[in-house]
Amino acid sequence: SLTAGVVAVQGDVEEHAAAIERAAAARDHAVTVHEIRESGIVPDCDLLAMPGGESTTISRLVHSEGIAPEIRDHVAAGKPLLATCAGLIVASSDPNDDRVDDLGLIDVGVERNAFGRQKDSFEAPLDVAGLDEPYPAVFIRAPAIDSVGDADVLATWDDRPVAVRDGPVVGTAFHPELTPDSRIHGLAFFENQAAAVPAVEDAR
Ligand code: GLN
Repeated sequence: SLTAGVVAVQGDVEEHAAAIERAAAARDHAVTVHEIRESGIVPDCDLLAMPGGESTTISRLVHSEGIAPEIRDHVAAGKPLLATCAGLIVASSDPNDDRVDDLGLIDVGVERNAFGRQKDSFEAPLDVAGLDEPYPAVFIRAPAIDSVGDADVLATWDDRPVAVRDGPVVGTAFHPELTPDSRIHGLAFFENQAAAVPAVEDAR
């Protein structure tokens, strides 16, 4: 069966675990989800999520707990990572904030709390590359992606990129774990041709 990890030093962890379980069940994968607060677990994971929350806190703790180099190794091995909202900020190559020690895994620059500055949170029907129907995207004090290097834009809102892919890593400015719709998790973990997950046969 599959082993999944949710970086759980801070943020909306349980919702990601539930979304991973839904996306896996939809594909007949058995999955065990670990909450990651210390080093030593990530190396066993086939797929990883890094949730929304508070990016300075998440970045500080993934570094101090020794999880950061393990996440980098996971991605270097071609295994999928979904990084959402604060997770996107931490995974980016330029958070534009000295208090965030980025992982440099998604070649984008971001600006914290820039999206929907007028309105703290909103929901938008997003057209996402690879999905047939619009995705109901929940934005909460979301970062804006203000520069895109060697990464693919999967969705835009208000003419700005809000979902990107850099090889095995998918990053979203919004929160795909907060709606029952697990298609973004499916896209990131099971339908990204640039990422390696065990075949269904092996995972049963
Ligand atoms: N505003 C948060 C930050 O910059 C991110 C918001 C979120 O993850 N919902 O860290």
